[in-house]
Amino acid sequence: TAVDTAPAIVIGSGYGGAVAALRLAQAGIRTLVLEMGRLWNTPGPDGKIFCSTRTPDQRSMWFRTRTEAPLGTFLWLDVVNQDIGRYPGVLDRVHFAEMSVYVGRGVGGGSLVNGGMAVTPPRAYFAEQFPTVDADEMYGTYFPRARAALGVNSVDPAWFESTEWYRFTRVSRKHAEKAGLRTTFVPNVYDFGHMAREAAGTAPKSALAGEVIYGNNHGKRSLDKTYLATALGTGHVTIHTLEKVRAISRAPDGSYVLTADRVDETGRVVETKEYGCTYLFLGGGSLGTTELLLRARETGTLPDLDPSVGAGWGTNGNVMLGRANHLWDTVGANQSTMPVMGIDDWANAANRVFAEIAPLPTGLEHWVSLYLAITGNPERASFSYDTGSGAVRLGWTAAHSAVSVAMARKLFDRINAANSTIYRYDLFGSSSRVFADDFTYHPLGGCVLGRATDDYGRVKGYPRLYVTDGSLVPGSIGVNPFVTITALAERTMARVLAEDAAP
Ligand code: FAD
Repeated sequence: TAVDTAPAIVIGSGYGGAVAALRLAQAGIRTLVLEMGRLWNTPGPDGKIFCSTRTPDQRSMWFRTRTEAPLGTFLWLDVVNQDIGRYPGVLDRVHFAEMSVYVGRGVGGGSLVNGGMAVTPPRAYFAEQFPTVDADEMYGTYFPRARAALGVNSVDPAWFESTEWYRFTRVSRKHAEKAGLRTTFVPNVYDFGHMAREAAGTAPKSALAGEVIYGNNHGKRSLDKTYLATALGTGHVTIHTLEKVRAISRAPDGSYVLTADRVDETGRVVETKEYGCTYLFLGGGSLGTTELLLRARETGTLPDLDPSVGAGWGTNGNVMLGRANHLWDTVGANQSTMPVMGIDDWANAANRVFAEIAPLPTGLEHWVSLYLAITGNPERASFSYDTGSGAVRLGWTAAHSAVSVAMARKLFDRINAANSTIYRYDLFGSSSRVFADDFTYHPLGGCVLGRATDDYGRVKGYPRLYVTDGSLVPGSIGVNPFVTITALAERTMARVLAEDAAP
């Protein structure tokens, strides 16, 4: 097979991959990005690029015949999920034994499907998680750089107080305040100017039309509109889509060799390609990057990788839950899909929780207050490689999740007590399930900064091999993670381009 070579290759086009591609390109380095998902720029038969959460079709999920939405049921009825055609859809749910992980697939990775919440972690917690990283530099340079390039903005507080679209948030704020808890606005990458025009009826609706986890047709500043658009604009970046890297090895001259499978829209492998590069950047996300490195170590293609590759993984303490409101406390049939507020009890060192007030945009009044709680769960798990099947296993157990649930329960028991309310029992498949603790939106770790890599994401044992994505974060960051991932990638790229790019 012909080997396609480039000075630099980036695997994955999520936050870590997009930052690497842009900064390499701006340094004049020709860069090839390999992304297993498709490019989302072509309208389907309905004239839209993405489908909505209310009428999911083949575009919704990655090679499935039925959707697997986070909410299994509503009023115990199986009305949420739908049969769909198999296709390289934009949202994947990766199943491990006792935890499943949602990830975005496509040019832009998680930015295509996420809630856009762009939160900078509390400095003290960042310093606790990254004791060897200069926090002054992060908060003075790299967090601001990341927020600017991501297009972070905030909802206009006056509009927030008056619009029907955030009534659900104001109701949850009132209930939190009644329990003596603090709430805080959180910024977002969704263009709030566009959202106000949606509400006024002068722009096409997206956040106000139930669009989010299967993609937004308007308003969202996903990476394909920010970092990746700028990267492509340099003329130094090429993106290959529907190509999944499955193996990494090293040639005798120290360059890297990749094997990638190109699939068609049915998922069939139509070509196996070989690539070569001098500099290799891993941006496949916590799951993608960890799997590649673990396989490389265990199959002996990169035998000197550190023993800590595969370790230090966590869910960012994610738990989802719903509360049942009183009949007079209506949350509104109209709900924006972009969260703008959190209940912030992170300062409570004995029970750290940051709970995002989440929408449940069914188009009907349902009296549900929904939350995605990020808890300070200290449990961590490791991935292992099964030599027989070539599969990666995750050691996270239900007992690990129970720690997150206990923390979330402590906070929401307080809110329920103060408001004489109860939990909702009809949302997660069976009436005994009040807390959805079997999935996470925030997979973090596996190649932790300063352990599997040096303090800048350089992979130990292998020069010119770097990690720039969420696998660097040691299992928890206390807030929604993409701003942190982006800022750390900016820090890595600044360092690497200054120190390592000598020919
Ligand atoms: P990713 O963004 O996951 O990018 C990895 C990319 O690499 C993907 O495109 C993948 O297809 C590709 N890839 C992986 N392996 C390979 C391979 N072997 N070959 C080729 N390509 C590969 N975070 C927030 O901060 N705020 C939010 O509001 C928020 N909401 C979320 C809502 C949902 C539904 C989900 C799923 C996530 C949400 N997150 C949110 C989390 C956030 O999206 C992730 O933390 C972030 O995308 C991780 O960035 P990353 O660069 O590590 O990897």
